[in-house]
Amino acid sequence: MKTSTQLRHTLHALDGQSYKAYKRITGTYSYQSFTLQIDHVQADPFATPSRLRVQIPQSIAAYPPETHAHPSRNNALCTYLARQFSTAAHAGSRRNCGSGKSGLIDIDTPGQQVLERTCLFVDDEQVEARFTVGLPADGRRARGLDAAAMLCDDLPAIIAASLTYAANDPGDVRRYTESCEDADHLRAWLPAQELVAFVANGSILPRRSGIDDRPLENAMPFRSPPELEVTVTVPNRGPIAGMGIPAGVTLIVGGGFHGKSTLLNALERGIYNHIPGDGRELVVTDASAVKIRAEDGRSVAGVDISSFISDLPFGQDTIDFSTENASGSTSQAANIVEALELSSHLLLVDEDTAATNFMIRDARMRQLIQAEPITPFIDRVRPLFADCGTSTILVMGGTGDYFAVADTVIAMENYHPRQVTRQARALAAVDPPPAEVEPGIFETAPRIPDPDTFNPGTHTSRRRERIRVTGPKSLLVGRDPIDLSAIAQLIDASQTRALGAALLHLRRTLMDGRRSLAESVTHLMREIERYGLDALTDHPRGDLASFRPQELAAALNRHRPLRVIHGSH
Ligand code: ADP
Ligand code: MG
Repeated sequence: MKTSTQLRHTLHALDGQSYKAYKRITGTYSYQSFTLQIDHVQADPFATPSRLRVQIPQSIAAYPPETHAHPSRNNALCTYLARQFSTAAHAGSRRNCGSGKSGLIDIDTPGQQVLERTCLFVDDEQVEARFTVGLPADGRRARGLDAAAMLCDDLPAIIAASLTYAANDPGDVRRYTESCEDADHLRAWLPAQELVAFVANGSILPRRSGIDDRPLENAMPFRSPPELEVTVTVPNRGPIAGMGIPAGVTLIVGGGFHGKSTLLNALERGIYNHIPGDGRELVVTDASAVKIRAEDGRSVAGVDISSFISDLPFGQDTIDFSTENASGSTSQAANIVEALELSSHLLLVDEDTAATNFMIRDARMRQLIQAEPITPFIDRVRPLFADCGTSTILVMGGTGDYFAVADTVIAMENYHPRQVTRQARALAAVDPPPAEVEPGIFETAPRIPDPDTFNPGTHTSRRRERIRVTGPKSLLVGRDPIDLSAIAQLIDASQTRALGAALLHLRRTLMDGRRSLAESVTHLMREIERYGLDALTDHPRGDLASFRPQELAAALNRHRPLRVIHGSH
């Protein structure tokens, strides 16, 4: 193995040469306290930056086992360290030393959520960080001297300042690891209490803006209505009190601008852990919760939406419903059935993004229009819980129709929740009972993706097969775009990159014309659990983050050319 001194000599020697000369530094170098691997060198100063890795042995990094032994803590520690590395790299940046991405040292910096990422790993042996470097250039010439200063002086300083245990405040490390351990404990505790979500008192739910996920300053802290308050003891913080949302049908009502959507959005994100100081550290939701919305224009491949919609004009089939251009209501129905296909225990619906005709039909309309293909969600929300055990939390400020079907009604008033179930029930009792409807059949035949309709190749050779990431929430499979913008719980561009890699992997190894979509997705998730996200790619990447089976299925379901074969149960 070469040494860092040799790397310095090489870089000095190529100063002023063509940028391509940088290719020579690909390889592994030993430093005093770590190993540097230069995996890929960019072709020019404007190209995607070069990919590097460092490994620091635990003899030097010295993290006590309790900071990383348990998966909850390990994730938290890695998130913390990636943020620390990012801060140190930006502080010591030489961003003004040339053209293009010259001087950049960057890591896939986590946001407010704690996701498993491929940019940082900690185990008993070592700490590994994967990051990118913009090798400096003057026009198209290599600035070898600057590169040497970056890789041989700045980099060791960044690592010393951010990645060893000694460099960090042990209090911060504890806050991260203990907070995530508590949140995972809470989420695991929910089912036994027959709860689907928990919001601790004192949580801060609103965000600064639609594009800034940090907590709103001077926000009103959350406080549970006394009737819904539960206390739970978590491993590190001890007993905590907050609002427990029971399984069943929960309605969030209240005047406009009183905080209904803010609460639902926080529940949506409660499938993830949050970093200390976020305000949502102790807001947890059933891990399988899916945000359901209308998504007109999406494609649908062979989904049985007949529980919600039947007898479409011109005899269109709703047991095997396919379209390139779903309406508000058919898209929302498909979103629900696809969530059930992945065994989701909780649906989250907000009136702001739901199709009204899918949600309700009032008594007058029921009388006037008999030939209505839609059985509204209000008629299905109870059977969904009774037959499939799938709960629903829905925000509905504009109509009281759901009072009759809700187990729990929460009214938001000036950002404060009140429990108003009894009052809502009393009002519902005055109305005539809802008309009887045919029972819904939520269990549907497995959908088997036809591999020929998922084609990431340019049809010449398999080596050229790829799925491109074209935006934070968009992919391109061959020539076909997958639009993920309506997937509310997909929150990070690194998840989208991982989904792209996962779809390709799934196509190559699991889509065989026999396995159902749900089986393939479950199978792939198991593989990731066992071998990590690195199993998805042929070379180690530092820009992937974990995702759920629900989001993987959502991506596959939105591949426009997809066709399915129906299996039997
Ligand atoms: P609704 O869905 O009831 O119409 P929103 O949830 O969209 O209302 O909230 C309206 C506004 O109030 C948002 O700008 C939000 O940031 C703010 N808000 C919500 N909850 C709080 C709170 N606890 N403290 C301060 N502001 C809040
Ligand atoms: Mg709203």
